[in-house]
Amino acid sequence: MIANRSYDCVVIGAGPGGGTAAALVAEHGFSTLLVERDKMPRFHVGESLMPETYWIFERLGILHELDKTGFTRKNGVQFVNSSGKETAPFIFREMDDRDCSESWHVKRDKFDQLLYETAYNRGATCSDETRVLDIDIRNKSPHRVTLKTADGKEQEISARVIIDASGQQALLASRLGLKEYYPDLKKAAIWGYFEGAQRAGGGKPEVTCILHTSSKDAWFWYIPLGDGTVSVGLVGDNDFVLKRGNSPQQTFEEQVNNCAGVKRRLLDANQVGRLNVAKEFSYRTTQQAGDGWVLVGDAGGFIDPIYSSGVYLALKSAVMAADAVTDGLHRNDVSEKQLGCWTRDYEKGVELIRRLVRAFYTKEFSFGQFMKAHPQHVMNLTNLLVGRVFEGNAGKIFDDMDPWLEKVRAGEPIPEASNS
Ligand SMILES: Cc1cc2nc3c(=O)[nH]c(=O)nc-3n(C[C@H](O)[C@H](O)[C@H](O)COP(=O)(O)OP(=O)(O)OC[C@H]3O[C@@H](n4cnc5c(N)ncnc54)[C@H](O)[C@@H]3O)c2cc1C
Repeated sequence: MIANRSYDCVVIGAGPGGGTAAALVAEHGFSTLLVERDKMPRFHVGESLMPETYWIFERLGILHELDKTGFTRKNGVQFVNSSGKETAPFIFREMDDRDCSESWHVKRDKFDQLLYETAYNRGATCSDETRVLDIDIRNKSPHRVTLKTADGKEQEISARVIIDASGQQALLASRLGLKEYYPDLKKAAIWGYFEGAQRAGGGKPEVTCILHTSSKDAWFWYIPLGDGTVSVGLVGDNDFVLKRGNSPQQTFEEQVNNCAGVKRRLLDANQVGRLNVAKEFSYRTTQQAGDGWVLVGDAGGFIDPIYSSGVYLALKSAVMAADAVTDGLHRNDVSEKQLGCWTRDYEKGVELIRRLVRAFYTKEFSFGQFMKAHPQHVMNLTNLLVGRVFEGNAGKIFDDMDPWLEKVRAGEPIPEASNS
């Protein structure tokens, strides 16, 4: 049972978005309930973090905790093309020698638990094994939320504000018909964990590796983790990855054999447990806030795993939404206008990542070739890859990339370098 029957704020889901939002609302002294349907800590995909998460961890005061948990430092990214050519790793500190240029490869059970505890330490009531069964937002705030708690009992709670951070369940967006799938990003993923897989070793910096298969129909992520295992995932079009007649294990192994870079790295490796499958994970929502409710993280949309932007966007939207919520609660204004005051700025940043995702999936496109012709954009590209999309001018890269993409899509010779 949950002791209180009414809260200033109920946060649904204890992923990175929910834990962060609950911590930041609770620390203002507002009564905050964070509910999670699973028992914490719980398993989740999404281990490679963008460096811009640094500022959010700093604000939450957990930077030192992240180092203590033994997560692997993420120093950069490396792209391996379809012919197996290993480009030099893109080390973020070489572009900007500040601590915020590095981040982590995290085990999500431990990472999300840390945020859950942070919310608790800031004063939120945290209740796992508590599922939201129903949300009634037909009338004005306070809204009613029906929960099923660990003892199997149902309970009704009222909330002045509901923060939906329920991840891909997207409880409110599904209920209100706000979800829109991207027709060109209908991807699926098969992933697992490997012991004895190759790591940088010899004191070399560890990076997130992105490797194209030889046909360029799919790509692998390769993320070395702190417990000695490596997370390896295959991503491609739904129909390609979830081929009829093939088990996920068969498809995964077939594609490892089609990807020299992964094959070599897994030569002496053993798979730990079964492979996991996810599909239809890329969508947006047509509205991210209403009277007394707001969506954060995947509950408000998810683009694609390619640049590891998911956790960062969950954290960033949680911070922006929590600031709007606390400001609104202080002023007794929980209107759509107040709770959604951040969404336009947020969407502008997200759009830059979306454009870079679409560039990656343009089969004929090569980042290497583009950067060779346009070296003046190296800092813009770095800023996009570290997640610095809510400030600065990283979007300037598209002044040259968009015409380039148009030409490669049309099969025209690639444009000459510009000096802009
Ligand atoms: C294949 C794949 C690979 C990815 N790789 C990366 C990566 O390397 N790096 C990265 O940054 N991101 C990655 N992501 C994205 C990342 O997983 C998500 O963006 C991130 O977890 C979103 O956080 P969140 O807090 O919004 O939601 P989640 O982390 O999904 O948390 C939502 C929580 O809500 C709970 N919940 C749901 N329904 C209810 C309910 N009814 N009642 C109570 N609780 C409920 C769930 O149990 C869950 O714990 C990847 C995604 C996919 C699909």
